Amino acid sequence: MFNEKMYALGSKRSIIREIFEYCKTRATEIGAENVFDFSIGNPSVPAPKEINDAIVELVQNENPVLLHGYTSAQGDLGVRTAIANDTNERFGTALTPNNIYMTCGAAASLTISLRALIENGEECVVFAPFFTEYRVFIENAGGKVVVSKPMPKTFQIDIDDFEGKITEKTRAVIVNSPNNPSGVVYNEQTIKALCEVLSRKQQEYSHPIYLIADEPYRELVFDGIDVPYLMNYYDNTIVCYSYSKALSLPGERIGYIAVSPKAQDSESVYLAICGAGRSLGYVCAPSLFQQVIKKTIGAKVDVNIYKENRDILYSALTEYGYECVAPDGAFYLFVKALEDDAYKFFEKAKSKEILVVPCDDFGVSGYVRIAYCVDKARIVNALPAFKALAEEYKNS
Ligand code: PLP
Repeated sequence: MFNEKMYALGSKRSIIREIFEYCKTRATEIGAENVFDFSIGNPSVPAPKEINDAIVELVQNENPVLLHGYTSAQGDLGVRTAIANDTNERFGTALTPNNIYMTCGAAASLTISLRALIENGEECVVFAPFFTEYRVFIENAGGKVVVSKPMPKTFQIDIDDFEGKITEKTRAVIVNSPNNPSGVVYNEQTIKALCEVLSRKQQEYSHPIYLIADEPYRELVFDGIDVPYLMNYYDNTIVCYSYSKALSLPGERIGYIAVSPKAQDSESVYLAICGAGRSLGYVCAPSLFQQVIKKTIGAKVDVNIYKENRDILYSALTEYGYECVAPDGAFYLFVKALEDDAYKFFEKAKSKEILVVPCDDFGVSGYVRIAYCVDKARIVNALPAFKALAEEYKNS
């Protein structure tokens, strides 16, 4: 009658969506200001003014066919040229427009790339904690998810564990830095060690192992921290970029895939990406937003707003006795639950109207994620409840 696997995916909402829906209902019961919803990663910082100005100007002045018509399947040439040039300037790469494929955000970038790279039964390594949808995307491409565990406390990659997870069947590895849900940025030392293992393993198995850099949070870093650009460390790299968080445009569905020109058979990989986009029905990312991106290259959101939220929350929670992973980017705080079972902790927090996400589905148990992409007032107002919760555990 219908595809059972798809039915299972559609009928079971992700835990984040479940909690988010609960928050909406609860807000109608007790007032939104009394619900401390930290569940979903919806950017709270407004999109830069240049974005709205560009939309208005394009709508008023641009040729309607360019604005609302189909572009080439891989995206408008002028847009891809602008992105390639900007990336080359920032990171010293040698991308051309023929390395860039415009997409409907990082989810599409990942789905297309995985479909292009993985054959049935091949393996894709992900680093815990990882964005829960990786499992859906990899399995949908016919691949098998292999989870590598993190270093305790720092949540950097455990290189020895990673090396042990690579087999002859490994086709791809996904790196997400800054990380959802930990907020950790993988440092250069970690990236170099990871790339050294990959280079050695692809030689040993005589086939390429692709490094997929999932980068929706690249621009959201604090205190001048550097996020290594993976193409500069490893040739077989494919970047899955998105403007959802970088420019606070998650509902507009715009991003791109960049295939390193130094990748083995780079042109064929790009064509496989075009083929995967075609087979998945993703031809032509939204035309208006392609043009908006071209016009606003270099625009930035004010990350200091997220940094202020992070600082308030991190210092208060650690003072109350919570153990938090120090986050350098994104807008998530990864906090050790005050008991082993993160779901039980979630229920106790919920009884104080604090809504956080238990992270078992992210591949790490005993932790919860706090999405601090919310108004500062919500954070400040929630602090007494966080404090009372910690005290309740101390006294129990
Ligand atoms: N990858 C990670 C790590 C994410 O956190 C998200 C969204 O939250 C995505 C990919 C999907 O992003 P997009 O909205 O651009 O599809």
